[in-house]
Amino acid sequence: MAVTDYDYLIVGQGLAGTSLALHLLEMGKKVLVVGDASMPSSSKVAAGIFNPLTGKKLVKTWLADDLFPYADQFYKDLEAKFSCKLVYSMPIFRPFRSIEEQNTYLAQTADPAISQYIAADGRTDLSHYVESRFGGLEVIRAGWVDLPVFLEKGRDYLTEADSYIEKSFDMDDLSVGPECISWHDLSFGKVVFCQGFFGVNNHFFSWLPFTPVKGQILEVATEEVLPEYIVNQGIFMLPASRKVMRVGATYSWDPLNWEPTIQATEELNEKLQALLRIPYQITSAAAGVRPSVKDRRPLLGIHPDHANVCIFNGLGTKGVTLAPFFARQLAEHLENGKDLNPFVNIQRYFSLYFR
Ligand SMILES: Cc1cc2nc3c(=O)[nH]c(=O)nc-3n(C[C@H](O)[C@H](O)[C@H](O)COP(=O)(O)OP(=O)(O)OC[C@H]3O[C@@H](n4cnc5c(N)ncnc54)[C@H](O)[C@@H]3O)c2cc1C
Repeated sequence: MAVTDYDYLIVGQGLAGTSLALHLLEMGKKVLVVGDASMPSSSKVAAGIFNPLTGKKLVKTWLADDLFPYADQFYKDLEAKFSCKLVYSMPIFRPFRSIEEQNTYLAQTADPAISQYIAADGRTDLSHYVESRFGGLEVIRAGWVDLPVFLEKGRDYLTEADSYIEKSFDMDDLSVGPECISWHDLSFGKVVFCQGFFGVNNHFFSWLPFTPVKGQILEVATEEVLPEYIVNQGIFMLPASRKVMRVGATYSWDPLNWEPTIQATEELNEKLQALLRIPYQITSAAAGVRPSVKDRRPLLGIHPDHANVCIFNGLGTKGVTLAPFFARQLAEHLENGKDLNPFVNIQRYFSLYFR
């Protein structure tokens, strides 16, 4: 094998790129992450919520029993490494919309796969705070990760380890040979593209079935101190500090850009008015594009024609819990040849490439 300056070039410093770089460094690899902090990023906008039971139907998150413990340990280890707080454990209160919904949800909680994620006493009363005349369910082992801090501290850590360069990556500067990758005057064993939504324009991987979804969230100020619960019913309300909450999110497709809109603010405000019982004021709005995929599974693996060109993308709506687990899986695949989960391996879409 050719001797190179670095083992890996990682393009993009969002959740995917940062998590992968940290795992590869832990394995003793030489890594260089190219990031451009002035560019938009889904991770910068995301609320960072991890929630084991999602959707109207209270469905257990795919691979929750594997993803959640791994992510929990990953972020806690990083808190020690970065000397900062990243993870906020917080139950999620889901007000019932009706007696029917109450009955359906309570019947579901008989299933041990679900009940392990629900508070046993279930007597939470937040009726002074949110509309919840039929009561509600309290989802546990949930919470949120402070992603802006994760990204900033991650960047500092990588910089300190000589593993970060602040630059906009231009594909014209990259040369892919059979033995090594060259970028500017540096050589690498492999390149891994972790570009989120920008991945749709990457000619190596643009054949993959990305289905990006725009989302907007609001920052909302209140005069009352907020209870330490994330509330979820159609929207989420996340207490980010004592009197500031983040409220989201919308799902829209046209246009797919990074600009907040008045329509999305109005949509969220309407839902907030119906749910929240204390006075509030919207202070700002932000929008991002989720790197989602047709089958809602991440995109990991090696290019069909270039053994040294790889991808880590497709984290969709659940990057916080997917990124750590699958960063580890990809690192072990690339370094030790361990199998990727076939549901995330891009091999499942190779027929699109060869078509
Ligand atoms: C409104 C909203 C709310 C969300 N809420 C949640 C939530 O509560 N919980 C959750 O788990 N997930 C949430 N998500 C989803 C989450 O944001 C994504 O799953 C995750 O952040 C994707 O990470 P990524 O690293 O793949 O992409 P990104 O975070 O977009 O990172 C890609 C990075 O690559 C960089 N890049 C691309 N091209 C170049 C280039 N040429 N040069 C240099 N850098 C480049 C980009 O600038 C960016 O920094 C939310 C998303 C949105 C939009």
